[in-house]
Amino acid sequence: MFKKRPRGKKKTWQVDIAKERIQILFSQADKRFKTDPGLSDRYVEIARNISTKINVPIPRELKRRFCRKCGAFLVYGANARQRVNSEKQYVILTCLKCGQKKRIPYVKEKKERKN
Ligand SMILES: [Zn+2]
Repeated sequence: MFKKRPRGKKKTWQVDIAKERIQILFSQADKRFKTDPGLSDRYVEIARNISTKINVPIPRELKRRFCRKCGAFLVYGANARQRVNSEKQYVILTCLKCGQKKRIPYVKEKKERKN
């Protein structure tokens, strides 16, 4: 019995597990934030490590939940600020820990969804 092995590609099960773990880590970070924000940051760190090691991208909706610069788990209204510029149609996320700003165009996402 021979099974075909895709060359240069990560095994699918490995990718699936990595994706699942990233999701779990972020939901845990969300749960723990109120009582232990430091732990939330740690979860983000682990999730990012998995993402780099297995080469699995962090889902777009989770990417905006942490600061790229200082690695903090972001909760809007607590350590992050979200500002919508409806005229130019983008959202600015500010990490209140280090001041890093992130601009997200939200029109692009709507267009992509049509495909
Ligand atoms: Zn930051």
